Amino acid sequence: MATGWGSLLQDEQQLEELARQAVDRALAEGVLLRTSQEPSSSDVVSYAPFTLFPSLVTSALLEQAYAVQMDFNLLVDAVSQNAAFLEQTLSSTIKRDNFTAHLFDIHKQVLKEGVAQTVFLGLNRSDYMFQRNADGSAALKQIEINTISASFGGLASRTPAVHRHVLNVLGKTKEAAKILSNNPSKGLAMGIAKAWELYGSANARVLLIAQEKERNIFDQRAIENELLARNIHVIRRKFEDVSEKGSLDQDRRLFMDGQEVAVVYFRDGYMPSHYSLQNWEARLLLERSCAVKCPDVATQLAGTKKVQQELSRSGMLEVLLPGQPEAVARLRATFAGLYSLDMGEEGDQAITEAIAAPNCFVLKPQREGGGNNLYGEEMVQALERLKDSEERASYILMEKIEPEPFENCLLRPGSPARVAQCISELGIFGVYVRQGKTLVMNKHVGHLLRTKAIEHADGGVAAGVAVLDNPYPV
Ligand code: ADP
Ligand code: MG
Repeated sequence: MATGWGSLLQDEQQLEELARQAVDRALAEGVLLRTSQEPSSSDVVSYAPFTLFPSLVTSALLEQAYAVQMDFNLLVDAVSQNAAFLEQTLSSTIKRDNFTAHLFDIHKQVLKEGVAQTVFLGLNRSDYMFQRNADGSAALKQIEINTISASFGGLASRTPAVHRHVLNVLGKTKEAAKILSNNPSKGLAMGIAKAWELYGSANARVLLIAQEKERNIFDQRAIENELLARNIHVIRRKFEDVSEKGSLDQDRRLFMDGQEVAVVYFRDGYMPSHYSLQNWEARLLLERSCAVKCPDVATQLAGTKKVQQELSRSGMLEVLLPGQPEAVARLRATFAGLYSLDMGEEGDQAITEAIAAPNCFVLKPQREGGGNNLYGEEMVQALERLKDSEERASYILMEKIEPEPFENCLLRPGSPARVAQCISELGIFGVYVRQGKTLVMNKHVGHLLRTKAIEHADGGVAAGVAVLDNPYPV
């Protein structure tokens, strides 16, 4: 992919002036985060980091990512309903990974008691990078799918105006018009609203499970605002509040502070540090309830790296999506190399290959939220340590995607504008609602482009590494 903004990135003075304008526009548009000093308060806020220019993305790859999103929705839904597949896939992992084991335990308990709700709501984001092929072209390769707390759908709707502004200041009105409009939070809210409607109780609320310290509050508010506009009220509570004031009646209807809850939307609960023993109890209570969970624990498990790796096994998609060869082909085309580290010959071979070529692989534990993967020399050391231990089954190996770097200018509060060699990660938001056996909704609802300097192997926007961006289709 060509760099795109070439000479504009050389003129330091112009960049500084453009950056000032861009930052002010970002603040005016609501591209906001709370600060790391005051993560629980909106008294003083700042802009979310972003690129000065939109980054060039091949239209065909953008279209491909959109086209496969409904297939990914179907796949996640199919995996979440397939208890035997989840059990088999995660059996070695849960022996060594306490967090996944805890989730799996809740899953088993709920299945044993009987699932209380027939409506299922999935809000996910499938993330990709653009692998550079030998011939210079690029291929869309999935990094992962996020089935819980997929974020930045709210802020992503506000960044197009900022990039249009920058291009308009430069007199590039035709280019500005090429930046796609985007409104994931509206689509995500439509999914929640549909689930709420199917629950069928006019006074019931949506319960958003929130963290105490939430810098990304404005992203969440975008969804809350869309719901309120449909006269659906959201209450924000922590797991601790659920422990204290949540209850189930004899029909397992969920009540919070005396208000009935139709939908539970998790923006917490995807990392071990989110759970005290008490919080695990609260999660179990929510899962047992007949509120629609987004996601339910089975769908959260469907988003683990171990499941992703097993799905790439030859013949697996055909089993999970029978009679849908076209969907299977679209899905498989986006898969990178994924390797099991379960004890045995297959895992041994993957480890040998990764140690021999450390720059071609990534070692991933069953974690979300960025900053957990191991690369290069660190990966080799970990593999040497793990290779004779069953602990290795709690990891997977993945082919490392190598996109073609390009230049852009990164803007962050407190730092001068910085021109850097960058790579991007494209996310597509997907929404589905199922009632019993009927799929009531299956859509893609927008995109997120995140860009980071190439020296960072890992990490998203929340981790302080990547910044918000927009695709400039070429
Ligand atoms: P998390 O659940 O922590 O977000 P990811 O699988 O998305 O885990 O990995 C975090 C980051 O690491 C990604 O955003 C990407 O920048 C980088 N990364 C992950 N997998 C690969 C890969 N196969 N090749 C190159 N970079 C990767
Ligand atoms: Mg990720």
